[in-house]
Amino acid sequence: MKISLLLALYRSFLKKCPSCGKESIYIRYLKLKTNCGNCNEELSIYRTDDFGPWLTIIIVGHIIVPLVLYIEQSYSPQLWLQATVWIPITILSVLYVLPISKSICLAILWKLKEK
Ligand SMILES: [Zn+2]
Repeated sequence: MKISLLLALYRSFLKKCPSCGKESIYIRYLKLKTNCGNCNEELSIYRTDDFGPWLTIIIVGHIIVPLVLYIEQSYSPQLWLQATVWIPITILSVLYVLPISKSICLAILWKLKEK
């Protein structure tokens, strides 16, 4: 069955198999399964490499940096307070977005290789 790129991307946002959308693509945090447990789609052949971290930096950077600049220009809080707030928020955001970015990359590669 042919699946649209939009549907594959939607499934990737949920970190699910791009082919069936039922099973998670991860064994652990960023460790991909070899095959989908539901449809047996081979997942380990897709080399996502640095695309996931790159996309994560783009997404998180475009959210966090404007917020930091807005808060700095509007309220000018102490530097220690900003570091205490923004560093954990940035780390948590990156940890949340990174598996989704990797999943998006896998879905794009999967769609490009689809017959
Ligand atoms: Zn599947």
